[in-house]
Amino acid sequence: MRGFAMIEPGKTGFIEKADPKVGERDALVRPLAVAPCTSDIHTVYEDALGPRTNMILGHEACGVVVEVGREVKDFQPGDRVLVPAITPNWSDVYSQAGYATDSDGMLGGWKFSNIKDGVFGTRFHVNDADGNLAHLPDEIDPAEACMLSDMIPTGLHASEMAGVTFGDTVAVIGIGPVGLMALRGAVLHGAGRVFAVGSREKTVEVAKAYGATDIIDYHNGGIAEQILAATDGQGVDKVLIAGGDAEHTFEEAVKMLKAGGSIGNVNYLNGHDNVVFNAGDWGVGMGHKTIHGGLMPGGRLRMEKLASLVVNGRIDPSLLITHRFEGFDKIPDAIELMHHKPDDLIKPVVIC
Ligand code: NDP
Ligand code: ZN
Repeated sequence: MRGFAMIEPGKTGFIEKADPKVGERDALVRPLAVAPCTSDIHTVYEDALGPRTNMILGHEACGVVVEVGREVKDFQPGDRVLVPAITPNWSDVYSQAGYATDSDGMLGGWKFSNIKDGVFGTRFHVNDADGNLAHLPDEIDPAEACMLSDMIPTGLHASEMAGVTFGDTVAVIGIGPVGLMALRGAVLHGAGRVFAVGSREKTVEVAKAYGATDIIDYHNGGIAEQILAATDGQGVDKVLIAGGDAEHTFEEAVKMLKAGGSIGNVNYLNGHDNVVFNAGDWGVGMGHKTIHGGLMPGGRLRMEKLASLVVNGRIDPSLLITHRFEGFDKIPDAIELMHHKPDDLIKPVVIC
């Protein structure tokens, strides 16, 4: 098989590999469509995970099952499937404890393009097929189905972790595709006023379409300062973080948060950085402000539930897709777009 890989830190290219072996509970899948993630860029160009060599990239795809192991019950060759970016080991005790994303070690549920080859291959391997794949509903276009792998589950997880509820005032820091889905998650959870923090015109337009009530440009001064001014010094109930960095963004988030508020972070920080915020803004350690950070939950049930949001018109993933490429060989073009992020980009998709 052929795949588009991280050859070494900072270097990508196509490589040839043997087809993965399919265990008794596993599946082999051929991609129908794939999408690159900002996380692929952090991994290749920012040494965020540590060095990887000849590892096929990608964790966003839908596809067609090519082969299944003997114990797989619900999927067979020819089935069109949704594939979550996170494919936990459902037998692990961490899964039983409710932290499937941390099965097989912290963040060990993240296997594609982290601890094994990803989905940018002409074939890719899915562990525990019955537990992790979902049937692709006929109503969902394959390009849009790729948004169910990571962008929708990750964004919605930010609002879940923060516990957004009816009438909350929410700030969403970062309105790339992940932040836009965090914003949509907040709206679906019943948020009242929703501040979207970003600057590019295209993302601002889509943030409004998903339900943002106020736009804050972080180039125009401190984010907390602008949001506190807009709320008569009250601040917000919840902050969802999907952009910015470890050094400045948490400081802003803790500062703008009301006592008792909480933060849901899904931003992939650089493992070499420290998260910094002021203790005074945290009520000198006693302000009942909570920070949650989590990898998107994966697995089949989650995929089926989120697909229902798309099928029933609660989330329109087509607004996220700004660039479409035809052909597997165009994966490098899509990665290049993610690397340099032109102003009109939200998310590229490659139809294989
Ligand atoms: P994008 O780069 O597309 O979006 C980043 C957003 O952050 C943009 O709106 C940008 O604003 C904004 N931003 C940039 N700098 C700042 C700043 N200093 N202060 C405030 N906002 C800022 O990223 P994605 O949406 O693709 O991904 C977001 C993050 O989520 C990434 O780190 C990605 O790796 C991570 N991720 C996490 C997952 C998980 O499971 N937890 C899964 C998938 C992704 P603008 O461009 O408008 O100026
Ligand atoms: Zn991702």
